[in-house]
Amino acid sequence: MFKGRADINKNTKTRHAKNQYTHTVTFEGISIVVHRKNIKHMHLYVKPPDGSVTISAPLSMSDESIELFVQTKLNWINKQITIIENQPHQSRLEYISGEMLFVWGKQYIIQTVYGSKNSLELSDDKAVLTIRKKSTSDQREKFVREWYRALLKVEIASLLPKWEKITGLKATSWQTKYMTTRWGTCNTQTGKIWISLQLAQKPTKCLEYVILHELIHLAENKHNKKFYSLMNKYMPMWKEVKMTLEGRSISSTK
Ligand SMILES: [Zn+2]
Repeated sequence: MFKGRADINKNTKTRHAKNQYTHTVTFEGISIVVHRKNIKHMHLYVKPPDGSVTISAPLSMSDESIELFVQTKLNWINKQITIIENQPHQSRLEYISGEMLFVWGKQYIIQTVYGSKNSLELSDDKAVLTIRKKSTSDQREKFVREWYRALLKVEIASLLPKWEKITGLKATSWQTKYMTTRWGTCNTQTGKIWISLQLAQKPTKCLEYVILHELIHLAENKHNKKFYSLMNKYMPMWKEVKMTLEGRSISSTK
């Protein structure tokens, strides 16, 4: 037995096949799935995206031995969970009913309808997604991505001139781009700005912040004192907006 700190939940014990079974134990607040198999050595896994912990253990091994093993690996397990939890979430949507869609910082519940022509309509808290019945999640994602792009383009077309006027800095051209690691980027040589499609999911304040950030780069390449003094001048609350953008605070305003 796991002597108080852990307990084997007999209800979760499931038999797969001969000489194989699975049970779940809770150890110092961490839920661990133990697979008993006909193997010689014990293996420990912490898997993304949720940091779930799994152990494969030989059938003959005692619960006490597993407990000792987990105990010696506890620091490592916690470290792995922290690493996984801090990774940017790439959780992909299937674009099926019940999933959440974010548009300008507002959350909508996807309601999938089958039809011959793709469309996405927002109403109250619903995002009604009409798609072909046989479409794959990749095809749905592509459609939604282009839908976001159209939305974002309209917003940039009005917000970029606004910030160009405020700062007196001007982009020579701009484009939207699917990026997973950056919100925006610019070419200081040519004066071109790229804006991440993901910004259509965030409150529009975040888009304004990124536009301003990239425009200032046209005057100052580096993130130095001059750069931040310009940020402070034009958007005194930029740090707060940056926190919203990075998901460190929840903002319900548009
Ligand atoms: Zn920058």
